[in-house]
Amino acid sequence: MLSTGDVEGGLRKLEALLRVIKYPGYVDYNGLSKGDPSAFLPIVSFALTSSSPPFAEQLMAAGLELTGKTDLHFTDTLYKVLRDIFNYKPILTRQQFLQWGFSHRKISFICDIINLILQKHSQLKKPRVKCPRSHRDDRGETHPALTDTGTLHDPQPCQPSVSSYSSSPMFDPSKEDLEDRLQRITKINTTRKREDYLEWPEYFMAVAFLSAQRSKDPSSQVGACIVNQENKIVGIGYNGMPNGCDDDLLPWSRSADNQLDTKYPYVCHAELNAIMNKNSADVKGCTMYVALFPCNECAKLIIQAGLKEVVYLSDKYHDTPQMAASRRLLSMAGIMYRQFKPKRTEIVIDFNSINYPGMLNCATK
Ligand SMILES: [Zn+2]
Repeated sequence: MLSTGDVEGGLRKLEALLRVIKYPGYVDYNGLSKGDPSAFLPIVSFALTSSSPPFAEQLMAAGLELTGKTDLHFTDTLYKVLRDIFNYKPILTRQQFLQWGFSHRKISFICDIINLILQKHSQLKKPRVKCPRSHRDDRGETHPALTDTGTLHDPQPCQPSVSSYSSSPMFDPSKEDLEDRLQRITKINTTRKREDYLEWPEYFMAVAFLSAQRSKDPSSQVGACIVNQENKIVGIGYNGMPNGCDDDLLPWSRSADNQLDTKYPYVCHAELNAIMNKNSADVKGCTMYVALFPCNECAKLIIQAGLKEVVYLSDKYHDTPQMAASRRLLSMAGIMYRQFKPKRTEIVIDFNSINYPGMLNCATK
């Protein structure tokens, strides 16, 4: 059991290191002393991606992207960096790092990370012994260092080639090089918003698919989501038996000698339910997102309800007379219909993700 003094001592050390790397963010010392992962993650993220541009470039060159990740993916990459670049074995497992507690270990862990980066920064800034024709690396890029967190000064190297980025005042890099360099540094230093958030159409189609999971139909689960012109959802539905009709007593089969023993005469389609479930006065001018292209019966409802557009995902019954009739009706009524082409194949909802601060609640592919 470690004493409070250990934690306090560790925090003082960390505080000094944060000054060295010019950490600009708020430091949640209370969270750090309790081992709250969300207090540690921003510091580690800054240390890796923004405290040393040459190091950040090295990471990018190695394909070790750390921005825009979930906490879990970030930690995976962090551990990979520590292993592959520093040959460093952390005193905490990844799971422990993302849990509460282990504050003393976590504090020494991030002190170690910062120290390793500072060392690496100094190495990367050291003068090259031999002067190549230019100061470019394998990728044809140089190693600029706008943030000087080490004690080394830029050397006066040998005569540079025309496009060297050396920060030594004796060189005069072209304007184009400077802009390019600034752009790259800005890219590294800026904490950006998530890039892989759901776009509106994906979101509405995903809501339709989620609602389909409520369906008790064993062969076909279809969901629909109606959205108004302000991108607000005004109705959701999925296929099921009418209200008050016991779905244990009605048939669910697709074929039978007697049609009355199939589901077809009874089941309400998702489109009908979404329209009937609307929480606004009407659905005029709205768009319906639906998993399957609507049948002719639903097309009639869509037209009469005043919807202006249908966005569907699958058109697997395209060649049936019902779908042909549906297309004819929708076209005559001037209702647009278009197929939604998803950019990702799946969206996974992980209830456990909420326990990791900053982590996505849904993983997407
Ligand atoms: Zn239908």
